[in-house]
Amino acid sequence: LSERLGKALKNITGQGKLTESNMNDMLKEVRMSLLEADVNYNVVKEFIENVKQKALGQEVIDSVNPGQMVVKIVHDEIQELLGSADARLNLKKSGVSTLMMVGLQGTGKTTASAKIARFCKEKLKKRVLLVACDVVRPAAIEQLETLGKSIDVEVFSLGTQVSAVETARQAMGYAYDRQKDLVIFDTAGRLHVDEELMQELSQMKALVQPDDILLTVDAMTGQDIVTVAREFNEQLSITGLVVTKMDGDARGGGLLSVRSITNVPVLFVSNGEKVEDLEEFHPDRMADRILGMGDIVTLVEQAQEKLDMDIQQKTANRMAQGIFTFNDMLDQFGQMQKMGSMQNMLKMIPGLGKMVKQLDDEKMNDSMKKSQAIIQSMTPYERENPSCLKASRKNRIAKGAGVKVMEVNRLISQLEQMQMMTKMMSGGGGMPNLSALQN
Ligand code: GDP
Ligand code: MG
Repeated sequence: LSERLGKALKNITGQGKLTESNMNDMLKEVRMSLLEADVNYNVVKEFIENVKQKALGQEVIDSVNPGQMVVKIVHDEIQELLGSADARLNLKKSGVSTLMMVGLQGTGKTTASAKIARFCKEKLKKRVLLVACDVVRPAAIEQLETLGKSIDVEVFSLGTQVSAVETARQAMGYAYDRQKDLVIFDTAGRLHVDEELMQELSQMKALVQPDDILLTVDAMTGQDIVTVAREFNEQLSITGLVVTKMDGDARGGGLLSVRSITNVPVLFVSNGEKVEDLEEFHPDRMADRILGMGDIVTLVEQAQEKLDMDIQQKTANRMAQGIFTFNDMLDQFGQMQKMGSMQNMLKMIPGLGKMVKQLDDEKMNDSMKKSQAIIQSMTPYERENPSCLKASRKNRIAKGAGVKVMEVNRLISQLEQMQMMTKMMSGGGGMPNLSALQN
């Protein structure tokens, strides 16, 4: 599958220019790939249209080939559709917050309820109460009680004889009496969306006025997830998603569909049967997984970073004029950090290759961080005009960066060395060039 994508890529790669027809070939492969990842047909269609618009409008950067550009656009578009990673629960600052877990049967509601309870207890230091509102099956209550015991979180239950809504009502009273911070309601599911269930959930919602209603989205579900998500969202206005069973090998394209329908954020990722198997959401990883060509994307990203032409060009131009200031140095540090291996990077800077024979990467990293801190403690004027750095300024900078003045001096002499080198490389400054012109 990603093999086929790779082939389509190769066809475009090296052609220099992205034409509509060879982009169409590529997008056809992307379309197939997304459908195979269980993304809904209509979502895929709209998605491809979007990508086409973006790709066509975009100029191809010299140093990146068109095939790579398309992949990156596709990947970024998926990532954008998946939403951001920084969504949080809508917990109240004080008082009792409430959270309802909803979703079809077997999608992982009960498991996720316990996992989130554990997360809130351990990480957020909340006093949590779990409430068993799946009252139809005795096994469901027992399941939650067992989970609650294993994470040392209290479980409220009134057995199978009391309705879910009544259970929720009494649980609220209990939570207020015991001054709980958060009440998590584990609810019943069905194999399919059904009216009775929706009514029960709506009544519960009206009663507990939840701060969050999270829908569990099983990474393994296929096309029909769209109907389910739409129904739950229309009836309950869900506030977030929990993706479950991410430890399986499904590519999880259903999430893309659910996101495009509900537009609510993904709050957690459940990736295992154990209570501690709960993760934050990483849209970039998820996009890799859905697209099914993470390796290529990683490669493209590295290539793009390496070929951050603007900065390279700017520095090269300045160096050609014999200019090298602290700002240039800072730019170079930034480039090096993106690169990973600094030796390779330094080799790419004109004239520095020979200097970089045997350097200890880790040691260099530390000293680079220090140097960055020093430059960042300088004013913009100081960065461009290092000659103004007298004792009082040096003292202030050293203090700001948390280093000794000696180290500021060392960096200044490093800069002076670089400046000398660039002057040499540019032909010793203006004069020799002028005389060369006269000849
Ligand atoms: P509910 O019916 O929605 O409450 O679903 P459950 O929480 O009872 O989960 C149904 C089944 O899926 C159980 O066997 C769980 O152990 C399992 N399960 C839930 N979440 C995950 C997960 O993230 N990974 C795996 N592998 N299994 C899970
Ligand atoms: Mg359950």
